Amino acid sequence: MPTVDLIVKNGKIVQKDRLLEADIVIENGKISKLVKDSSNIKSDSTIDATGKLVIPGCIDIHVHSREPHGAKTPANQEDFLSLTKAAAAGGYTSIFDMPVVGYPPVTTVDAFNYKKRVVENKSLVDYVFYGGAGYGNIQEIKPLAAAGVIAFKIFTREIDHENDDWKGMIIGELGSKTLHKIMCEVAETNKILSIHCEDDRLIRSLSNRLIREGNTKPSAYYKSSPNASEFLEVDRCIKLAGHAGVKINIAHLSTSESAALVEKAKGEGLPVSAETCPHYLLLTDNDLVERLGPYGKAYPPLRSEHDRCALWKFLIDGVIDFLATDHAPHPKEAKEPGWNNIFDAANGVPGLETALPLMMTQVNLGTIDIFKCVNIMSRNQAKVFGIDNSKGDLNAGMDADFVIIDMKREYSLSSEDMYTRSSAEVFSGWKVKGMPILTAVRGVTVFDEGNIVGKEGFGKYINKAK
Ligand SMILES: [Zn+2]
Repeated sequence: MPTVDLIVKNGKIVQKDRLLEADIVIENGKISKLVKDSSNIKSDSTIDATGKLVIPGCIDIHVHSREPHGAKTPANQEDFLSLTKAAAAGGYTSIFDMPVVGYPPVTTVDAFNYKKRVVENKSLVDYVFYGGAGYGNIQEIKPLAAAGVIAFKIFTREIDHENDDWKGMIIGELGSKTLHKIMCEVAETNKILSIHCEDDRLIRSLSNRLIREGNTKPSAYYKSSPNASEFLEVDRCIKLAGHAGVKINIAHLSTSESAALVEKAKGEGLPVSAETCPHYLLLTDNDLVERLGPYGKAYPPLRSEHDRCALWKFLIDGVIDFLATDHAPHPKEAKEPGWNNIFDAANGVPGLETALPLMMTQVNLGTIDIFKCVNIMSRNQAKVFGIDNSKGDLNAGMDADFVIIDMKREYSLSSEDMYTRSSAEVFSGWKVKGMPILTAVRGVTVFDEGNIVGKEGFGKYINKAK
């Protein structure tokens, strides 16, 4: 009998709706079969997962690597190596990188190819890029799709339209007319348009008023971006998308009203999906105001306790499809000015190394079951974005992307232990139960008991099945 590459023995494999006690046989980076007893199969190596859960590798559809580095992202900030070390340590085996903040932004085929070259020898995990879609690069949308972007991203911004860095990611001054045109163009590529839904014009006017009144405390940020600044845009985008026939994803959904709109749209059969983030599920505006100050400034802001609880319900009911981190690895220097003026702090929080242990803690607490949790961390992402021929499940024929989790292990999250170069972590100090102890990408261990063991450049760009 030929020797196989690897067998993961005695784990409890989390499948769609059952825990399967079986051994995973891995050859050439793929799962060749799941067997009850592998004692008669020879393998080059084995991993003992006795007493542990084995889940499909997590897929983060929303990260900001800050690659390629340019004048505005100095070399000591997050790059693809530090980002994917963080991913590996956090149980993420695939990441979808946003077109910003890197220079040049991925809004042209040239920029897409350049970024691919820049990160080629840096990644520990598999990855894909979004392309920007905006008023200034409509002619690049189809070529970007052909070049291999996984999906498109747009911000519902109407101001800032003269900023060259943004014109391939924003609507521009003509508003809905241009948004509809962009949607029609993306629809023809059959790719998803992920939308940052915030009414920039409303937020700017409220922010300017608060600043004029001298109110620049952390609480002013919340006042500048009320729930309506999100859900009015979600409403507009869903309606326009329905007309344009484009599949859309609502990025980092944060309010109960937005989730209700997504539920209604899904009920009408519209191709809408939605993501939310750990910070909206676990933190509120109180944390922003009282404890975290500028470190709790995300984009959109942390919301009320009412919204936080509602988001859990919508997530568990399947209205919200994905947990994404919106990993925004800002350095401390970008956050600190916010203590004096909250509007001067960078938006966003890092999340790759905390999302999975935080969610496993919620599984242990009974907030969400492990099957739904795997759906929102991995399976739904693969299905909706069309990479479920290789990712998002543990079955014969799939890539051997998996995470071994010790559900009994308790520890404290600490930014000291993290690989991200961001020092703006908001969950540091949180007690968690359920530790990702080993991460493997295509059958190769990249993270093992606190140590990065993956090789730079092992991670590959994921080519979608045609
Ligand atoms: Zn983002």
